[in-house]
Amino acid sequence: MATFFTNLRRTGARWGVEHGLVADAATATNLNRLRVFGPAVAGINALYVLAFLLQGLRQTLSEPIATWNADLTLTHLAMGLWMAAASYAARGLRHAHRGLLPRALALAVVAGALLFSILVVSIDQAVSNNITTFLITCLVSSLVIYLRPLNAALVYLGAYAVFFWAIDNSQQDSLQLLSNRLSGLAVCGMGWALSFLLWRKFTTIALQQEHLDKLQAELQLKQKELERLTRLDGLTGLYNRNTFVELTRKELQRAQRQGSATAILLLDLDHFKQVNDTWGHPAGDAVLKHVAALVSSSIRSTDLAGRLGGEEFIVLLPGTSAEAGRKIAEKIRARLEATPTAWENIRIPHTASIGLSGTSAAEKRDFESLYSDADKALYVAKQRGRNRVIASAGPAYCTS
Ligand code: GH3
Ligand code: MG
Ligand code: MG
Repeated sequence: MATFFTNLRRTGARWGVEHGLVADAATATNLNRLRVFGPAVAGINALYVLAFLLQGLRQTLSEPIATWNADLTLTHLAMGLWMAAASYAARGLRHAHRGLLPRALALAVVAGALLFSILVVSIDQAVSNNITTFLITCLVSSLVIYLRPLNAALVYLGAYAVFFWAIDNSQQDSLQLLSNRLSGLAVCGMGWALSFLLWRKFTTIALQQEHLDKLQAELQLKQKELERLTRLDGLTGLYNRNTFVELTRKELQRAQRQGSATAILLLDLDHFKQVNDTWGHPAGDAVLKHVAALVSSSIRSTDLAGRLGGEEFIVLLPGTSAEAGRKIAEKIRARLEATPTAWENIRIPHTASIGLSGTSAAEKRDFESLYSDADKALYVAKQRGRNRVIASAGPAYCTS
């Protein structure tokens, strides 16, 4: 028994937290529904008013029918106006579904509808014993407006208390009174049970949806990160070999269509192995990152920089002649030499050799042929003592 109550308390506490999480979403749904249902219910009440007025006009009504007709006309008119006002208020609160006011509106609409139906069935006792209007209103209110279970319990309890009292004033037959009071109790119980079930269902779906949205957002982030990782070099953030080659091919085609020149620089750090051997791999990584940043900041945003692997970098200079490319290569080489990498408390000096190749649009050369020429020029730069730029201009190399 103690376990039963402990479980009940835990479930209650969990539900309390869950209900707090979805309360705003429920209020937003309530406001939306009120905007649609409000005018519809007001319209139905207007039809009732019209029907009762026509009945009063078409025939002379005797008592108690005349009073019954007049009371129902007024009640439906009041309900119609109330629903129209509620729907108007819901429209006004469209962008403010947090806070007390919109929640109070939903509660007030259900309480108003139940009161209205109690009035109708009380008035109806003059001509009929049934309480169908009360039953329908309880079920429709529970279906349309989401109320937190405790609030709903208060509303339905209050409604039953009013019903219990009101039906006593209008039903003279004691047996019928008892029967209606029992039916009213069942109706209120059903209304609350339906409201509770729908609220729990809404809570479960809303929380699942929220969870799904979160997972989807995380998945999209991971997908973007994955895309980034497949396109970029993990250490330096420059384009990796595949992406660089793909982008360069496109760039060369564009340059050929537009008739502009293109240059490629192949940069290899000198004696980089010694950096690793002297200061360790992390120091070598710091140098690679520093070099990548220096290269990136030395070129235009329309140029492309990539890391081919190891300590080898490549730069594509669109709209650049071999001669202009050589100046840029020389600028990069000089900056690398003049700006050692700061790592821990030491400054690691470095130089690079650069091979350069260039093409005009008329030559229609592809990436492979440009790369091969730049590679040969780089080889010559290494052979001639490193820390220099060698431009490939056909078979004759010119040094800087
Ligand atoms: P050279 O002047 O002839 O180019 O000599 P080098 O020492 O730069 O060339 P070598 O090809 O002998 O050595 C390249 C070194 O680069 C060897 C390798 O350990 C190192 N290396 C390659 N990739 C990375 C990396 O991602 N991080 C670090 N720290 N070192 C790397
Ligand atoms: Mg090297
Ligand atoms: Mg190398």
